[in-house]
Amino acid sequence: MSTASRFNPPTEDDLREFLDLSIDMLCIAGIDGYFKHLNPAWERTLGYSKEELLSRPYVDFVHPEDREAAIAEANSLAAGRDTFIFENRFRCKDGSYKWLRWTGAVRAEKGVIYAIARDVSPRKREEARLAAQHAVTRVLAEAPTLASAGSRILQAVCESLGWEAAAIWQVDNKEKLLRCVEAWQILPQHLLGFDRSTRTRTFARGVGLPGRVWEQAGPVCIEDVAMDANFPRRDVAVKEGLHGATGFPILVDGEVLGVLEFFSRQIQKPDARLLEMMGAIGSQIGQFIERRQAEDALRVYARDLETAKQVAEEATRTKSEFLANMSHEIRTPMNAIIGMTELALQTKITREQREYLDATKTSADALLTLVNDLLDFSKIEARKMQLDHVRFNFRDTVEDAIRVLALRAHHKGLELACDIRPKVPKALAGDPLRLRQVVVNLVGNAIKFTDYGEVVLRVQPESHVDGEVRLHFSVTDTGIGIPAEKQKLIFEAFSQADSSTTRRYGGTGLGLAISQQLVELMGGRIWVESHAGQGSTFHFTATFEVQSPAVLQPDSLGLQLTDLPVLIVDDNETNRRILEEVLTNWHMHPVATDGSVTALAALEKSIAENHAFKIILLDAHMPMMDGFGLAERIKQDQHFRGIKLIMLTSAGQPEDVSRCQTLGISAYLTKPVKQSELFDVIVSVLSPGEQQPSVGPKPRSGSRSTRPRLNVLLAEDNAVNQLLASRILEILGHQVTVVSNGREALSAGRAGRFDLIVMDVQMPEMDGFEATAAIRELEKSTGEHIPIIAMTAHAMKGDRERCLAAGMDGYVSKPIRVADVEEAVAQAMAAKKLSDAGSTAEDSIVDEAAILAGMDGNRKLLRDLTRIFLADCPKQLAEIKVAIQMRDAERLRRAAHGLKGSVGNFAAKRAFETAGQLETMGKNGNLDAAQGACGALESELSQLTRELKKLTMNSRAREPKLRKPDRGKRLA
Ligand code: ADP
Repeated sequence: MSTASRFNPPTEDDLREFLDLSIDMLCIAGIDGYFKHLNPAWERTLGYSKEELLSRPYVDFVHPEDREAAIAEANSLAAGRDTFIFENRFRCKDGSYKWLRWTGAVRAEKGVIYAIARDVSPRKREEARLAAQHAVTRVLAEAPTLASAGSRILQAVCESLGWEAAAIWQVDNKEKLLRCVEAWQILPQHLLGFDRSTRTRTFARGVGLPGRVWEQAGPVCIEDVAMDANFPRRDVAVKEGLHGATGFPILVDGEVLGVLEFFSRQIQKPDARLLEMMGAIGSQIGQFIERRQAEDALRVYARDLETAKQVAEEATRTKSEFLANMSHEIRTPMNAIIGMTELALQTKITREQREYLDATKTSADALLTLVNDLLDFSKIEARKMQLDHVRFNFRDTVEDAIRVLALRAHHKGLELACDIRPKVPKALAGDPLRLRQVVVNLVGNAIKFTDYGEVVLRVQPESHVDGEVRLHFSVTDTGIGIPAEKQKLIFEAFSQADSSTTRRYGGTGLGLAISQQLVELMGGRIWVESHAGQGSTFHFTATFEVQSPAVLQPDSLGLQLTDLPVLIVDDNETNRRILEEVLTNWHMHPVATDGSVTALAALEKSIAENHAFKIILLDAHMPMMDGFGLAERIKQDQHFRGIKLIMLTSAGQPEDVSRCQTLGISAYLTKPVKQSELFDVIVSVLSPGEQQPSVGPKPRSGSRSTRPRLNVLLAEDNAVNQLLASRILEILGHQVTVVSNGREALSAGRAGRFDLIVMDVQMPEMDGFEATAAIRELEKSTGEHIPIIAMTAHAMKGDRERCLAAGMDGYVSKPIRVADVEEAVAQAMAAKKLSDAGSTAEDSIVDEAAILAGMDGNRKLLRDLTRIFLADCPKQLAEIKVAIQMRDAERLRRAAHGLKGSVGNFAAKRAFETAGQLETMGKNGNLDAAQGACGALESELSQLTRELKKLTMNSRAREPKLRKPDRGKRLA
């Protein structure tokens, strides 16, 4: 306060001093465009003398790029605005520019402006440096490679800092020099010479701007290249107006990889902050290169890994294809070995020879299994394994698979049981063969590794969604078990829990590896629970599509079976439980007992209670008194008369069958019992009047003696296989003609009358597919169809389909066996018979089955009706003719209607339709075409008459007989 009060108003000197000492540039300028008065700060800041500044219009000092804005500003002041604030660049005496921030006020009436300008260049430079650094960071973040980032970095820096030209130099370590890899200019057309000079030049260490940066491994600044002695591009640079220059290194781990240089038209004062910023950009680019190098190294590593993986996969595939080819090749000679051994076994030989041949056959079978395993395994490895998707009966498939193993189990004295829960759907779609393969492998292993006790396969549904059922299978045995540490290993190919067991139990260690892959293909998984010495349970799951069942469930048949009292006698608990459950499911009334003593007690009790058993299911082999002993006791006891005995025996023990016969046992079934067969047998032993004895398992396709003798053409190029196949066909009772390729088959087929062709697929000259196609083509004109059965050494999925698609009717895969050929021939011939029957029905004008169906199968009625028709028909036809002649439409309608009704009885489609046409003509009064239609009708009728006469004659000889059930094994 006191100071203020002591201060007098400023004198003129005070004010001059104030102006002279001010750091800011103060001025009075005229609106005529000239400075009028300037304080000394102007001279200090810009380097001009006061006179120089006062003598020229001030806009002359403004940076050419800012002039337009300065003029606009002046105009707006002239138009009446009285204050202003703006920034522009002002030239200094040395040619450089400074950023000035202007503020001021206008005194229009005096025609002057009072203004203050402040040098804001440091702030502007800092902003530009930051902008340049950000721009570089952004470019590096987005760029995939330094090459693609290069020109964008140069551009970003130049634009931010207002520089004209720039270049990137790369150190060539081999040649020990720097080469330009990228050059950039704001106005390239003005710097053509400099650009060319930059791009074509190289610099050694220490030479020129880039060489000096390389040498110093740090930034270098040249104020004005025109004054620099170590600047080889000086002349062209000066000529094109470049002065200031700066360069800095790209450093990685302290080593210079490259150099960046920038040029401006202005002389550049050394600027520590700028150099610092350049250094930062240089190391940023260095880090980028390091990162990319690391990434590239990683990429190379990953690529190497990928290549190594591909090489390994390729090797696996090659190995697997080799295995597949080998196993295919091995199958062909195996065909001969197995087939010839089978044939030799059917000849008259000594016991000793039989033993040798049996051993050969067993080994050959084992070898074939191994080859099949290898083939599967290599297919899986080569990713060629595909699953089928066909409809199949689940229960039959699994029970058949189990049955194959029954013999082995019974030989070892093991109980083999199969427990399929009732909730498991019967009709499924999937790959039954592969499912069977997994089941056979697991159950086969269980039998192999079990010496006492039982093996049980259980199947239950796990989930049921969207038309798909997931089934849980388990195979439990009471065998040697698997130690915990081996349980993972055994699913790997060629590995076994204990290699010392190999010799004792045999095997290759492939089965579980294949099963695992198959199960995975079936959308499931496989695992094991086991303890050494305590048996194992192998589990697996698999998903199948559920189909709507086409056949009736057994329990919906035959009401008389409800509450049927059945006694089960079996010492094995699992078996008892399964049988009990199956019978309960069929609404029968089972009572289960575990041996003869309890069984006899139950029998006594049932008689006493007046509720006698109708059927006894007897296990043949039990300790103490076995099934046969018990059967004998029961048969001797008058009380038990009328009770039917069904014996459950082990597969393939011929003496069991004869003992059953002698004891008067009604039927026998081999274990494990198939549900459908058990049901059939129960029904058949209960049916009255069915006394036909039928011993042994169901014959495959009629007994050999009754089979028709066929004239067979065999086409096969391999001599051994020719012999084998013709012997097999001869054993089956056929007559064989052999040719050795497709072409011969074609001509032989044309010349001779054959009932059947059995054809190898791979043959020289013309293969089986081509020959079949040619035969089918020929047949188009004759309308015939000779059954063709393919023989192939392939065991691939799709072979069957290929054969069938090629027009073949059946398929046997090599090695061919008697039973397979027999079945294929029977099937092909049955199919032919069906289609022959079908085609006669179609061609002939009367369809006997349809007529009989319309008459409830009553052949007598058919004969009576025919007699009447044959008498009436000529009269009705004559009436039609008269009506047409007299052009009496109504009469034609009535007569045709009557005849139509008569022929309708005989399902004579064409005659019926023609009569119908005549009737319509009569109704419409349109008789123009009636004459023609009548002619057609007449010829239809004469054919119909002929065939009806034939039919009634035959029908006398063919009165209906009752059909016998074809399943079930009744004995007496
Ligand atoms: P293989 O039976 O041909 O040797 P697998 O792959 O089927 O090949 O089985 C591999 C191994 O797993 C067998 O060698 C055996 O050591 C073990 N194994 C499989 N099933 C059983 C089982 N039910 N009980 C005990 N060990 C088993």
